[in-house]
Amino acid sequence: MATLSFYFGTMGAGKSTLALQIHHNLGQTGSGILITQHDREADAVSSALGVSASATVIGPDHDLFAIAKEEAAGRGGLDYLVCDEAQFYSPDQVEQLALVVDELDADVHAFGLLTDFRGRLFSGTARLLEVADQRNELQVQSRCWCGELATHNARLIDGNQVYDGEVVLVDDGTTADVTYELRCRKHWMHGTAAPQVERLRSVG
Ligand SMILES: [Zn+2]
Repeated sequence: MATLSFYFGTMGAGKSTLALQIHHNLGQTGSGILITQHDREADAVSSALGVSASATVIGPDHDLFAIAKEEAAGRGGLDYLVCDEAQFYSPDQVEQLALVVDELDADVHAFGLLTDFRGRLFSGTARLLEVADQRNELQVQSRCWCGELATHNARLIDGNQVYDGEVVLVDDGTTADVTYELRCRKHWMHGTAAPQVERLRSVG
């Protein structure tokens, strides 16, 4: 029986690396597609370690069940989908992934972040947690600057942490300098960056 598996972790937990590995392994004996949204490169999934593979890039209006059904018809069957950046999928698209599992009997492996910079579940992630057959937390752990486990993604604008704003920022060239930083809950809640002296020491 096919399953819908959701793998989640913070930035730096190796989600894209594992997505690429699973796609590679399953592709040896089966037929499947790699799907992503908003990746670092167009038409590809790339990992922080430098591995990449071509991918189908979707937007919010794509019907994932229709895409999978068409692929299945063209290939004479579909064994799996590997979905990266699944936190950005709409709740409807997550339900389409469940249909792929139940109606096309194809395994779906979805990878995503748990919470956004506001500390709230992404809407795609929330739906995945609700409908997945398996939920797996990735065990590669990132650290806050203080050494504690990093569980939260902080959004920094010109170096200052913010808690409000659009979940997905579109870079139109006019936005301020936006970066993300992994922090423990305490320092995420306090909005505390590493002390300046620590930064100088790490640089020097
Ligand atoms: Zn900390």
